[in-house]
Amino acid sequence: MKKQFVYLFSEGNAQMREILGGKGANLAEMTRLNLPVPQGFVVSTEACNDYYDKDGVISDVIKDEVIKNMRSLEKITKKNFNSNDNPLLVSVRSGSRASMPGMMDTVLNLGLNDEVALVMAKNNERLAYDSYRRLIQMFADVVHGVDKKHFDQVMDTIVDKYEVETDHDLSVIALKEVVERYKETFKREVKEAFPQDPEKQLMQAIESVFKSWNNDRAIYYRRMHKIPDTWGTAVSVQEMVFGNMGEGCATGVAFSRNPATGTKELYGEFLFDAQGEDVVAGTHTPLQISQLKETMPKQYAEFQEISNFLEKHYHDMQDMEFTIENYKLFILQTRAGKRTAQAAVKIANDLVREGIITKKEAIESLDLDIIDGLLHPQFKLEALQSIEPIASGLPASPGAASGLIVLSAKKAVEYSDKGRPTILVRMETSPEDIEGMNLSLGILTARGGMTSHAAVVARGMGKACIVGSSDLRVFEDHVMIKDKKYFEGDQISIDGGTGFVYEGQIETQSVAIAEDFDNILTWSDEIADLKVYTNADSSHEIQTALDFGAQGVGLVRTEHMFFEADRIRAVREMILSTNEMQREVALSKILPIQRDDFEKIFRTVKELPVTIRYLDPPLHEFMPTTTQDIEELATVMSMSVHEIRDTIRSLHEFNPMMGHRGCRLAITYPEIALMQTRAIIEAAINVTKEMKDNVLKPEIMIPLVGDVAEFNFLAKKVKTLADQLIRESGVSINYTVGTMIELPRACILADEIALEADFFSFGTNDLTQMTYGFSRDDAGGFLKSYYKLGIYGDDPFSTLDTSGVGELIKIAIDRARKVKPNIKIGICGEHGGDPRSIAFFKSVGMNYVSCSPFRVPIARISLARD
Ligand code: PEP
Ligand code: MG
Repeated sequence: MKKQFVYLFSEGNAQMREILGGKGANLAEMTRLNLPVPQGFVVSTEACNDYYDKDGVISDVIKDEVIKNMRSLEKITKKNFNSNDNPLLVSVRSGSRASMPGMMDTVLNLGLNDEVALVMAKNNERLAYDSYRRLIQMFADVVHGVDKKHFDQVMDTIVDKYEVETDHDLSVIALKEVVERYKETFKREVKEAFPQDPEKQLMQAIESVFKSWNNDRAIYYRRMHKIPDTWGTAVSVQEMVFGNMGEGCATGVAFSRNPATGTKELYGEFLFDAQGEDVVAGTHTPLQISQLKETMPKQYAEFQEISNFLEKHYHDMQDMEFTIENYKLFILQTRAGKRTAQAAVKIANDLVREGIITKKEAIESLDLDIIDGLLHPQFKLEALQSIEPIASGLPASPGAASGLIVLSAKKAVEYSDKGRPTILVRMETSPEDIEGMNLSLGILTARGGMTSHAAVVARGMGKACIVGSSDLRVFEDHVMIKDKKYFEGDQISIDGGTGFVYEGQIETQSVAIAEDFDNILTWSDEIADLKVYTNADSSHEIQTALDFGAQGVGLVRTEHMFFEADRIRAVREMILSTNEMQREVALSKILPIQRDDFEKIFRTVKELPVTIRYLDPPLHEFMPTTTQDIEELATVMSMSVHEIRDTIRSLHEFNPMMGHRGCRLAITYPEIALMQTRAIIEAAINVTKEMKDNVLKPEIMIPLVGDVAEFNFLAKKVKTLADQLIRESGVSINYTVGTMIELPRACILADEIALEADFFSFGTNDLTQMTYGFSRDDAGGFLKSYYKLGIYGDDPFSTLDTSGVGELIKIAIDRARKVKPNIKIGICGEHGGDPRSIAFFKSVGMNYVSCSPFRVPIARISLARD
């Protein structure tokens, strides 16, 4: 069958979004519902893709179909395109499958030329020339990229010449002059005359809309909202109705509910005697929609009725464009309205209360990127409007923060002692920076990806963080942002949700989480089959996660506990030990501190499962880097600076992420694992005694296992000691010993490992790194070229690569469950908080996802969605 590329509105419906785009599908649907919609046709997204497949040529087949549909539209409207007899003018607008407001282009009044203007002028001279000048300017802008300023200059001169206030007040004579001058401007800028052939105008306009799919702002918007480049845009061609015909005419945009607060009321703006772009262009001050009620009560009531009807029909708040031509109301567009997080939550609740949507629909309706804003401070929107970012990077942890630049953890401490807020700016962070990160309001790094240390730790702390900003260079006592120098103490602001860095201070605001949001979370839990755990390293973080509704702890990274000032020295002593005895002495200093940490954690989680991961990073990460720290350590250890430097050098590895880390550390130094076992089990015994109830569920997790023999070697040692301690204590502790699955080899051999391990937790950060074979910390740089070239669509460290890494996960789960059907399986990589990855984890039969505390609500909602 011949492929159809163009559809009349009357041939489509709301389900045809993929082909007709959101706008086209909704216009078709409203036509089907007999609403007052000016008629037209849609050139489909498939035509757009065909245009790109043919390297930027609209095929004759498509052109013929456009013309054929134009003939049908002429019949429907009883008007004529390309004729002086009752002329038909149209608007040409873009409309992709996902709404991309303002991202692409629109041309109005298409079909006008000198002769058509003369014909129209017989009825309404003003309308004819007002519409014509608008067409010339929009056509120049959209089709030829001519800057609006050239036309604005002409308009300003004429407004001055005729001594009026705005273009609205120009006489017909003046408008005619505008048209002539605009045509001259067009010719000067475009180097050809404004096209008089309406069909040529139409084809050029359609082509420009196709092209606008790939303009910079559309590409940027797609990347931000993860919209595939392959979707293409449709083009709707619709009969013009005129809000600029004089008395009884108006045009405007309105939401069916207030998009800022969610209150149920028509909310929007309009202008009398104007065309659509006047309302949004900011050149005229629009009126509040409530004023329409006073002047045109009948039309207002009709609009209100249609608004209610559309909400009920689409089960969502609507954003509508309307025009009133000679007291007759037309709806030009409807779509789901963008809204603030508070409004989204209120509207979802209200629509459930009003019986318009189900709880499940309420959960599905939420834009999770926006909802995330409820959980972190945000910049005030008004403040952002007048300011441009000075740099950008990866949006690693959402939230907005303003503070003074500090370049070291030490400086952060110094400033924070004086009560001054800081932003820690580093080349990249290392565990040494923990305290500085904790004290700062935000973190900005020049290097690193979405699972780098800074990203992971900041997310855990719920702090704003941007990583991998290539606009930034960090030096000892200053930073360069692009070509400008900044020093410690200079004020910057960062938005970890968008990845933008700003100069100076920007006001932030926090939003209180209200009852309505709790309702959404409760409804989500009723629907979800999987649990949400958290990745958290301290009792404080765990408490935050529990308050957000976490049902367990999926990952305690014990090394993060090693970095606090009171313990790093002992850890360094341990590393510098040259024999087992020395190491035991150092470990015995760490033991009480770790035990104390675990006691706090157990008291916080009580009966909930808590998965504690043994030491994981390569040891050199714990060594001092500054001369001062090295000298200090040398004194404490009674060693020479030279010896310390030698040891640091000996720990150097070319590929530390693939080196002596994970379970490999404990295999070479089992006393580390034994110390950690003792700390966990003794803490569990102590807390169980306090609680007089053996409810604790510690889960001991061995990282980076690639062979069951590695697991067995360590599990045996851990269990022997744990059992002995428990026996001696006289209380019973139900601990388990499991492993992280972070290596492709572990996935393939998952059945062998499952026979021995009590549980699996997928470490998808490492699993992604090891599967792709590129570093989670360094890949950011070249991945940018990959996104640009369309080789990859998403950052695989943010959104799980379901076809590669995901396939390994499926293999592992299948093989593990074959030998141990009830083995507990979860995920604790950063993907555990990403909605699209969560959809995958649901589909492969995991028991839980684990994510950073501030991500818990988003994960709960995601698990309830289809
Ligand atoms: C992982 O690799 O996914 C993981 C959770 O461990 P880490 O990020 O600490 O390596
Ligand atoms: Mg890992």
